[in-house]
Amino acid sequence: MSNIKYYQMIPKVDEILADDRISDLLKTIPRKIVLEAINEEIDRIRSLIQSNDENKIISSLNELILNIINTSIEKNKFSLKRVINATGVIIHTNLGRSLINPEIIDNIMKISTNYSNLEFDIESGKRGSRYSHLEKIISQVTGGEAAIVVNNNAAAVLLVLSTVAKNKNVIVSRGELIEIGGSFRIPEVMEQSGAILKEVGTTNKTHFEDYLNAIDDETACIMKVHTSNYKILGFTSDVPISELKELKSDKVLLIEDLGSGVLIDLTKYGISYEPTVSDSIRNGADIVTFSGDKLLGGPQAGIIVGKKELIDKMKKNPLTRALRVDKFTISALEATFRYYLDETKAISNIPTLNMMVKSIEKIEEQVKRVINILKQEINSEDINFDIVDDFSEIGGGSLPLEKLNTKCLAIELRKGNIVDFERNLRNYEIPIISRIFKNRILFDFRTIREDEENIVIKAILNAYENI
Ligand SMILES: *Cc1c(COP(=O)(O)O)cnc(C)c1O
Repeated sequence: MSNIKYYQMIPKVDEILADDRISDLLKTIPRKIVLEAINEEIDRIRSLIQSNDENKIISSLNELILNIINTSIEKNKFSLKRVINATGVIIHTNLGRSLINPEIIDNIMKISTNYSNLEFDIESGKRGSRYSHLEKIISQVTGGEAAIVVNNNAAAVLLVLSTVAKNKNVIVSRGELIEIGGSFRIPEVMEQSGAILKEVGTTNKTHFEDYLNAIDDETACIMKVHTSNYKILGFTSDVPISELKELKSDKVLLIEDLGSGVLIDLTKYGISYEPTVSDSIRNGADIVTFSGDKLLGGPQAGIIVGKKELIDKMKKNPLTRALRVDKFTISALEATFRYYLDETKAISNIPTLNMMVKSIEKIEEQVKRVINILKQEINSEDINFDIVDDFSEIGGGSLPLEKLNTKCLAIELRKGNIVDFERNLRNYEIPIISRIFKNRILFDFRTIREDEENIVIKAILNAYENI
């Protein structure tokens, strides 16, 4: 076998770089990436030569340049990219949780492409605080005295307890020691703060007396954790913050981790009651923490609202520096909170809320429109398009039992494999994230905007042509 002949046929890197098609490619793709693709392709051919597969060796040598071009284009793509969420889960943690209204981007762009008064007090000409930009508006819409914002809600819990309960006791119900996504446990975060957890009650029942009896000289606070991502049903009882208020004293604070951070009463829109931040403060919480990118509908952040004296202490905690938010977050959050000055604006402009109240008529209209176009494009008995009833979820561990009625586009194949079809959708240039249920692919249009319909159609046509 004349292996040597083949090795000699592999062009040198310099020769490849001199090819007109490769020089063209280098105008748009960084040399580092192209070189990596060239080396990988050469290595691949070398191993083919070792395996003596002549046909493959020859075709690979013939297609060398073409393969390098394709690999380079593939390598040059962004890793973090846009996808279309056809799952119907509105706050989908794996798909980026809440979306930002494009209107807000103008503000983020202005702040990030120019210098700003991030930590500069324009009036006095002296150093200012990055937290000042959010404090007033957060207090306005939540009714809290003061506020501070950190990287996320887990960081908020960490900072609060590290400030008020380091080396002291935190009383918490056993029914509230939850795990949130990614095997991330609230009690473990609490312990990281240096606080000592005093668990009270049982999984299903915790009574007022349980809290009362646990209070001693070492108690810094009672912490209530909103069990946002699960519900215990049946023989249960817990003590609401409005009752725990009676246990407060100069020494014992009342803290609530709300998780989702709802600011408006959603029952008006047909969604189950979820305690709002203002409710929690009104009912007696000294400090409330919640996420920026769950039901609030803003950027990733952890918001801490409550007593000014306590918030001031948190601002001085060295951890604050480690958990601080950057100007992107501050500008996006300020713009998000401004919507809440007018409730109807919040509902129509914050995508998360907007999707929650999206009417079933509007969803059905979208599905019908897409099916009409698909039926014109694909004239075949092998594929079937249907409208089916289903439920969307709010997600992000918010309102776990809430089922929102929705309509889905369902695709069924009479020929071809549905799993391949789904994979093609996922590998489309703008990946479509859908789900397979009983041999059909479902696309929930609650989480698909009108301006995304064409992309979905093209992806479906592409997936169909490639199975
Ligand atoms: C989601 C959640 C958290 C964590 O919030 P992140 O912003 O994801 O860090 C903490 N507590 C509760 C109750 C939650 O629901």
